[in-house]
Amino acid sequence: MYEMTVGLETHIELSTKSKLFCSCKNSFGMEANSACCPVCLGLPGSLPVLNRQAVRFAVMAGIGLNCQISPSSVMARKNYMYPDLPKAYQITQGDYPICREGFMMLSDGKKIRIKRLHIEEDAGKLIHQKEKTYADYNRCGVPLIEIVTEPDFTSAEQVREYVEKLRLVMRTLGISNCRMQEGSLRCDVNISVKKTGENFSEKRIEIKNINSVSFMAKAINYEFKRQKNVLKKGGELNCETRGFNEKTGETFLMREKETAADYRYFPEPDIPPVLICKEEIEEIKQMLPELPEAKKDRLVKFYNVSEKDAEWLIKYPKAVEYYESLVRLSGEKEFSLKLLLNHIFALVKDETSREEARFPKAEYIAEVISLFSSGAIKKGDIQRIIEKIILENKSFSELFDINEFTELSDDETEALCKAALEENQEAVKAFLGGKEKALFAIVGTVMKKSCGKASAEKAKEIILRLINKI
Ligand code: ZN
Ligand code: MN
Repeated sequence: MYEMTVGLETHIELSTKSKLFCSCKNSFGMEANSACCPVCLGLPGSLPVLNRQAVRFAVMAGIGLNCQISPSSVMARKNYMYPDLPKAYQITQGDYPICREGFMMLSDGKKIRIKRLHIEEDAGKLIHQKEKTYADYNRCGVPLIEIVTEPDFTSAEQVREYVEKLRLVMRTLGISNCRMQEGSLRCDVNISVKKTGENFSEKRIEIKNINSVSFMAKAINYEFKRQKNVLKKGGELNCETRGFNEKTGETFLMREKETAADYRYFPEPDIPPVLICKEEIEEIKQMLPELPEAKKDRLVKFYNVSEKDAEWLIKYPKAVEYYESLVRLSGEKEFSLKLLLNHIFALVKDETSREEARFPKAEYIAEVISLFSSGAIKKGDIQRIIEKIILENKSFSELFDINEFTELSDDETEALCKAALEENQEAVKAFLGGKEKALFAIVGTVMKKSCGKASAEKAKEIILRLINKI
């Protein structure tokens, strides 16, 4: 038997307005090299100034991940040369990160320890086209936090849950949009494999640049198999950095891994230590939005939402707000949830629209809820009504005539039943002969004739009464 252990390093781009050390715009998708200045390009003589908002965001992230916040932390230079880094060093944090010793609980009760969380700047982006490579330095100096876990994961499934929860915490805090496809959340996976009973070797294999959660799970499972096979054949594993090929689902060797000493870390001489007083940490704690776990608890306890629905709903913090306004407007906890989960989500399938809660005005839906509660509309009408409200972005009263939905009177229903019996003489015979299902055909005819406005229950009652008279 073999087992694996996985540690994760996650880089998250902070959504501050400007970059980490200069006033250049921090925004994704701009024209190449249109948001650069001497500071983020590292031209001689330029001096960095630390972005206060980025520090506050890092503290928020630390609190959200149950970390200790250091009253004093130090920026450091990490030296390496690569074409996406014109300064030839990255300003990051080394021995004194801003946050340490946090944790995240997974649903199976497993505790993932967070070793550290530090602030650093992003590098530029290289774009490879045919034989040429272009450099876009807009991303140079974009603020990042890097979150490093202990090697506590024992399966790809745990890694997936961690990343999803992490993303949710960051989005809830409003400090990053965490879009893996845009690179605002990036994970490096360290994975070691050993024979059960033996010790893990010191040699770590790192997989870099995986851009979706499901690819990450695939890469981990592939690497587990690969390393197992090497060990089974009596081979040895080396420290190395590997990439992941999305097309083949395989990992490949990129380079032998460098060690920390290769980077020649030293304290950044241009930036003084980062000091945060207790009062400021307290103030940040006070203004923190409700975190996902607390939100889930509240949905379960106060709104009687099931664990399962709550777990799902908290993925969309704005949808939770929307749900709460539905309840506030309609006074109906259970039915509001049903409408949101079964009807609105069924019609709004686009993930971004769900995240942004691009739903019909809560007032419009609350009106539908009260019409249903008062019996003015039937369950079967709801989907059609909501569909039209979404499509036209108008209220029920602007779109429909309530008379369309009023049920037929008993007399009107009886008249339709009589006609239906006339038309379905075969079915009547079959029913009298003991075939109970034949009744459905007759009720069906009534519903059709009434354009759905008859009550099926009532029609059935009347038909039975009429048949007994035959
Ligand atoms: Zn700049
Ligand atoms: Mn890093």
